[in-house]
Amino acid sequence: MNTPPPQKPGYWIPVCTALLLVCSPLLQAQRNAPYYNANAAALRQKLAEKTTASIQTAFREPDQFSKEAKEAYRSARDRIGLDVSEEISESALLDDVLWPFVQKTHAAIVAANPEGAATKVILTINPTPNAYSVGDGTLFVYCGLLAGLENEDQLAFVLCHEIAHYLLEHATKGLVREIATFHDKAFKAKVKAANKQEFNRNEQLANIYKNVLFKSRYHRRDLERQADSLAYRMFLKTNYAPGQAQRLCALFETIDEPLRDSSLNLETHFGCARHPFQADWLEKAKGSVWADAQALNAAAEKQMQDSLRTPTGATGCNGSKRWRNSCRPARRPKPFPATRMRRSAT
Ligand SMILES: [Zn+2]
Repeated sequence: MNTPPPQKPGYWIPVCTALLLVCSPLLQAQRNAPYYNANAAALRQKLAEKTTASIQTAFREPDQFSKEAKEAYRSARDRIGLDVSEEISESALLDDVLWPFVQKTHAAIVAANPEGAATKVILTINPTPNAYSVGDGTLFVYCGLLAGLENEDQLAFVLCHEIAHYLLEHATKGLVREIATFHDKAFKAKVKAANKQEFNRNEQLANIYKNVLFKSRYHRRDLERQADSLAYRMFLKTNYAPGQAQRLCALFETIDEPLRDSSLNLETHFGCARHPFQADWLEKAKGSVWADAQALNAAAEKQMQDSLRTPTGATGCNGSKRWRNSCRPARRPKPFPATRMRRSAT
C-alpha cells in the first residue's frame, strides 16, 4: 500500500509569504479603487500651481499701505498660497465618486447663480467636519463634513455659504484689515508704551492683543451672518429644499462632537478587587502637571469647537427667522450617492 509522502508544512510558509507580499498591494489598490485614479498626483500638482497663482492675483496689497505693511501683506499672502498648495498636493481627493458628486452640486448652484461661476471646489480627505473659502474663489470641502451631512441639499447650502464669502470678499478684505490693525500708528504706540513699562509689561501686552482678538472674533461672527444671508438667497434660486438650510444649522450644533461616548470610567480602568480605585487619588492629581495638562486640553478643545463652528455660520442661522417664514414650496431633499456616507438621507 502506497503511503502518502509526509507533509512539509515548512515548505508552504515562504510560498504563502511571497503570495501575500505580491497580492497585498493589489488588494489595497482594489479596496481604494473608487477613490484614487492613476493621474491623481499629476492633477493635484497642476491644481495646486493654478490655485497658488490665483491667490497671488486675488490678494493685492492696497496702495495706501506703508512699505512695512505691504511687505507684511505679501508675506501673509505667500503663506496662504503655500498652505493651500500643500493642502491640495497632500490631500485633494480626485476620485470617481465623491469628487464628481461635489462638482455636480457646485455646478447646480452656479447654474442658478452665475455670479458664483468664478469659484471652484476642492474636496480633501481631511476628516474634520469643515469647509472654507480661500478668497480667490477656491472653496475647500473636507470629507469629514460630507460624513456629517444628511443629504445633497445640505452640502449645497454649505457651498452657497462659501461662495457668499467669496462674493462678499471676506477673506481678501479680512487680510487687509488684519495687516492694517497691526501696522496702525495708534496700535504700535500702545505696544511701544507697554514695552517700556518696568512692571506688568506682559499683562499689558496681553490685554492689547486680547482686545484685538476679541474685536476680530466679533467681526467674524458678523461676516458669518452676512454669508448666511446671501447664501440663503442663492440657495432659494436652486432646486434644493429650502428647509435643509435650517436643518443644517441644527446639525452643526453637534457635528463636531465625538460619535462615541468618550467619558472614562476611572473605577473600572484604574481599580480592581485587590486594589480598588480611591477617590482621593483625584484630589492628589489636582496639583500635578497632569491636571494642568488636562485643563489646557479642555480649553484647547473648546476653542477648537468654537472655531470649527464659526466658518459654517451656525451662529448666523439663529436669528434668521426669514428662513422659517419662507413660503417656497417644500422640496424633497436629494440623497447622497449610494457610497460610503455615514448616514442615509432623511
Ligand atoms: Zn463662513
